[in-house]
Amino acid sequence: MPTFVPDVGPPPGAGGPSRWYLVRQGELLTTSEGTLAANSPEELGLVPDAPPVFLGMLDGQPCWAAGFDRGVEGPAELRWQELRALGAVWPAEEWTLAGRAVQLVEWARTHRFCGRCGTATERALDERSMRCPACGMSGYPRLAPAIIVLVRRGERALLAQGRRFRGRMFSALAGFVEPGETLEEAVHREVLEEVGVRVRQPRYVASQPWPFPHSVMIGFSAEWESGELKPDGEEILEAHWWRADDLPPVPPPLSIARRLIDDWVADVRDGVGGRA
Ligand SMILES: [Zn+2]
Repeated sequence: MPTFVPDVGPPPGAGGPSRWYLVRQGELLTTSEGTLAANSPEELGLVPDAPPVFLGMLDGQPCWAAGFDRGVEGPAELRWQELRALGAVWPAEEWTLAGRAVQLVEWARTHRFCGRCGTATERALDERSMRCPACGMSGYPRLAPAIIVLVRRGERALLAQGRRFRGRMFSALAGFVEPGETLEEAVHREVLEEVGVRVRQPRYVASQPWPFPHSVMIGFSAEWESGELKPDGEEILEAHWWRADDLPPVPPPLSIARRLIDDWVADVRDGVGGRA
């Protein structure tokens, strides 16, 4: 497995050709075969809309990201592809690194001026921040934590159709953590708000960077405690208790939602849990 070491600038003596991630909004420039077009902007005759961002070293190779305006086209043999769609075809490590590139490019292009006094910011050399030379404020990459929770009830689990899903798909409930809230409180609140059900014993399972546009998903499982399903009709259109052997369309592999669902299916198969 490739080893990636993040850094804010190339280490001394880092040489050889760099690996580039060219980003246009939520898209990456790819070859006609669908792999990363890792050439530098100069090689492709493209001009980034802000100074490139150093990502780190991948197996000793420097990695950079550069952003481009919406209207920029690459050479005819290359094409822009949505990061979201690449998740189904790229190896997990490559997709995660591409997500890092998309997030940092977006951060750099939206923090060019100080949010407090409006002065043009400067890239810090010793940490991942944009500093204001006038008032000293530092702007860090935005990261919005969101919980995602699979609620279990005996041998069934709660999967819901969200308003923003593309196509018919059922997934675990998810929502952003609010200021002043613990992750566990966010789990209780989101489930109650979205489907009117109370849960107990939220238990951390795993997490995943989610660069759409700048989240990290923190995955939980929880047990149903009380209440019957009443989808809020805003975020959630439809919600049901599903059996592991009779599932609706669910999110693709690689997503944390799918990981939570697969864990539960394995538990049911192995006879773990199953308390009503
Ligand atoms: Zn300032």
